[in-house]
Parts: sequence; C-alpha cells; structure tokens
Amino acid sequence: MRVLVLGGTTEATRLARLLAARPDIDATMSLAGRTAEPAPQPIPTRVGGFGGVDGLAVFLADTRTDAIVDATHPFAARMGFNAAQAAERLGLPIVALSRPAWTAGPGDRWTEVADLAAAAEAIGETPRRVLLTVGRLGLPAFQAAPQHAYLIRTIDPPEGLALPDARIILDRPPFDADAEAALMRAERIDVLVTKNSGGSATAGKLAAACSLGLPVILVRRPPRPDVATVHEPEAVLAFLDAHRPSPALRGV
Ligand code: NAP
Repeated sequence: MRVLVLGGTTEATRLARLLAARPDIDATMSLAGRTAEPAPQPIPTRVGGFGGVDGLAVFLADTRTDAIVDATHPFAARMGFNAAQAAERLGLPIVALSRPAWTAGPGDRWTEVADLAAAAEAIGETPRRVLLTVGRLGLPAFQAAPQHAYLIRTIDPPEGLALPDARIILDRPPFDADAEAALMRAERIDVLVTKNSGGSATAGKLAAACSLGLPVILVRRPPRPDVATVHEPEAVLAFLDAHRPSPALRGV
C-alpha cells in the first residue's frame, strides 16, 4: 500500500517511525521545505510544493498512491484543503492527523483572536515586553505594533524583519514549563503572544504564563477541511488498515 504523508510536524515524524516498522506500507513523507534543517525522517522524503491541487493530483496518480495522511500543522491553512480536493478527485482515502487545540484552564488569562493582525493589535497601545512565538513567517504582522519590546523565538532566523526593539532566540521544541517560566522571569515578559498549535511539545509556555499570572494572546486555528481526523499516529495506522486497496482494484 502506498501512502503519502504531508508532514512538517512532530506528529508526522512520530507517525513516520510507526510506518517505517510496517513493511506492508510504502510511505513517503512530503515536506514543504520551509525549515533549513528539518528533523531527520525514517521514511523516504520529498521536499517542495506540488503546484496546487492539479500538481498534487498528478503526483498521486504518477506514484500510484493509495491513501493520503494530512499531518500538516494546524496553522497550515492551504495544504489540507488541496489534499482533500485531490483525494476527492481521485477517489482516495484521506485522514488528517491533528493535535487537539489547547483549552483554557483555571488561572489562564487568555485573549483569543482570529489572526496575527488581531494579535498584534490586542497587545495594546502601551509598550510591553512581549514573548512572541508565532513562527518565523508570522512575524511581519507585528511590524504594525513597533512600540513593543519583542523577544522572538523561532527555529530558523527571520529575514528582513523591521522591528526596532526585537531580539531573536533560535531554538526548537520541546520546551519545558520550568525553563519557559525562568525565561519569562529573566526577560521580565509582560505578555505571551502565540498560536493555538496544540500538542505537548510547546505547551510549557502556557503553563509558565499561567503560573506567573501573565496574560496570553492566542491566535485561533484557521478552518480545516471536513475529512476523517484522528489525534494519535496509531489511529492513522488503523485508518490505513481499514482502507487498504483490494488487489483487484490495483490490478495486481
Ligand atoms: P500552507 O499554507 O498550508 O501551504 C502553502 C503551500 O505550501 C501549499 O499550497 C503547498 O504548495 C506547500 N506545502 C505545504 N505543506 C506541504 C507539504 N507537507 N509538502 C509539500 N508541500 C507543502 O502551509 P504553511 O503554513 O506554508 O506551512 C508549510 C509547512 O510547514 C507545512 O508542511 C506545515 O506542516 C509546516 N508548519 C507550518 C506551521 C504554521 O504555523 N503554518 C508551523 C509548523 C510547521 P503547493 O500548492 O505548491 O503544493
């Protein structure tokens, strides 16, 4: 069975480890190519866009792919829709592997906003010390609020960012809550601005903000296509086993 995994997330890499142990599944990982040094993958990997829905459909047909796993990030707004459309066109099964969104608990001081522009506005007029973890490509939205002092954490260095008071920390998840709280204290952070990515690898900053009584501005997730969705890599294997093509259909 040939499977295309649309990746770029911790969950996709975890799934790849399970798939690598299944000789009956011939899986390929697809990465957009945004990260200079992506996490090593235990299955064959291809890098770069497909050229929209049409390009993806051609790729799927050429590679005789039997099923698609959309394990892209919850904030990857386009790829999941392209995959859903291509799957429908070719009649292929598709499953999304997505971490549940974070939900506020007791003591959390969250302001949820629709997008990055709204997040920049929600910091307010008064200059504040902001810990900003929205990903490198989301940073330009904060140029509309240059009065704040930003501590920005990204995996790769941002390019061409025009903010008068910004410092960059390069690091990649996982981040633990104690270290996050120590960082917020040392940097005298007033507010955390982040996206509702979900998952445990980056949840430490929310626990830290809660323990320090700091407000959080949290960007809500964009809409996702209406496809079967699971939260654990093991459930993807169950989906694939249930959607295995019959030999007759594959002409073998
Ligand atoms: P996006 O807006 O959904 O995708 C934009 C375009 O990038 C797609 O139309 C597609 O190009 C290409 N693309 C996206 N994911 C791809 C994949 N896995 N394999 C091949 N091509 C892909 O996505 P994005 O927000 O730019 O994110 C790009 C990648 O970074 C995703 O794989 C995602 O999982 C990962 N990521 C994103 C975020 C985030 O906050 N957005 C955070 C962490 C990781 P074509 O139309 O040419 O096929």
